[in-house]
Amino acid sequence: MYDLLIKNGIIIDPIEGKAKTNISLKDGKIAKLSQNDMAAKKEINAEGQYISPGFIDIHIHEDKLINNKIEFDVFKTIVLMGVTTAVGGNCGFSSQNLSNYFDELEKKKPLINYLSLSGYGSLREKAGVKDNYKDISGSKFKEIKRLLKEDLEAGSLGLSFGLEYTPGISTKEMIELSELIAEYPDRLVTAHYRFDSLRALESIAELIIISRETGQKIQISHLGSCTAYGQTTEALKMIEQANKAGVDLMADIYPYDAFSSYIGSAVFDPGCFKNWGINYQAVKILEGKYKGHKCTEEIFKYLRKNEVDTLVAVSAMDEEEIVEAIQNPLLMIASDGLLNNGQGHPRSAGTFPRVIAKYVREEKQISLKDAVKKMSYLPAKRIGLKQKGRIKAGYDADLTIFDFAKIKDNATFEEPTKAPTGINHVLIKGVEIVQQSKLTGKRSAEIIKL
Ligand SMILES: [Zn+2]
Repeated sequence: MYDLLIKNGIIIDPIEGKAKTNISLKDGKIAKLSQNDMAAKKEINAEGQYISPGFIDIHIHEDKLINNKIEFDVFKTIVLMGVTTAVGGNCGFSSQNLSNYFDELEKKKPLINYLSLSGYGSLREKAGVKDNYKDISGSKFKEIKRLLKEDLEAGSLGLSFGLEYTPGISTKEMIELSELIAEYPDRLVTAHYRFDSLRALESIAELIIISRETGQKIQISHLGSCTAYGQTTEALKMIEQANKAGVDLMADIYPYDAFSSYIGSAVFDPGCFKNWGINYQAVKILEGKYKGHKCTEEIFKYLRKNEVDTLVAVSAMDEEEIVEAIQNPLLMIASDGLLNNGQGHPRSAGTFPRVIAKYVREEKQISLKDAVKKMSYLPAKRIGLKQKGRIKAGYDADLTIFDFAKIKDNATFEEPTKAPTGINHVLIKGVEIVQQSKLTGKRSAEIIKL
């Protein structure tokens, strides 16, 4: 007797492709794929629907711990779009105390399987460095290393750099920290590049050097916002050549031509508009008293001075280049989901369904099998999850069931958390967490500590 039978659906395994088959689940695992009926305590009729491995989002910005409490905001929008496992702590930002964050998340019961990186920027702050532009002294660097080791012992997946946010870090310092990570098996280093647009290629070159010198695998975060201003073709060539030469460098991307960040960050330092080839009008304010407004010089200056944590979106990227990157085999899909007071970029609630609706179904830029591979198998492999990312007996029963004809992202800049349509069931370890775009209230996910 199985726990659950999913019948009449079409599976999309990222390696073997489509097949019409029934799936039985037991004890949180995929038990058997069969054309026959199988006796189970419960059934889901997936007639006319596709069954994919649960999506794995290698790049999110998790809900913060505030007054020692976590309110699910990003976690919620993310599971509603079919994500069953996600990696937080990206772009240099992570919880100030990782083991404490894990404890609090455990108490609240995680909504999705969760892994976390340690953010370099946060470690730097914790070591008492206030100036992001400053080169740090030997004693502070020693303290950062000590804190990083503490996180790695607590189960951190690795280290994330937010180079654009902490310009003070040197390449030498990055090499030393990556060497430290390389001493721990299966860990990952991710990097939000140092420069975008006109200096994007130089940023990619820096990451190639670090990976080559240390032997550490490196993931370039949200490549589109680094290179989709005319540099993508060349950047992809550099990444491909590095891989051919034995460097383990891959990247992720979200399917939008606007990026988003905090207005007070170094991303918006003088010269940025010229670099992106835009003016103030291309900057949209996503929260606070100017929410929904386009920027003016006056508003920009006011927010940079007084409301530095305001999230804004910048329409500056070339969509054709985003598509070119999505199609590249070394790229995977990730949301870069980030919400502040429930506001932000629609990517937090739209990324995965948008790729399927827009780039697979409508524009046919990529096949469904390849898209699913970039949303499950590739990221699973990247972070060393050997039991996830495929539909095969023995694998974890993390599954996303959707209607291919109806799947659609609904999140917009006006309504950034609006749930998608067509994602009918999301299962984590065989338990239904989402049903018809709504949370069921059940929990079965786990914190994955290395
Ligand atoms: Zn970033």
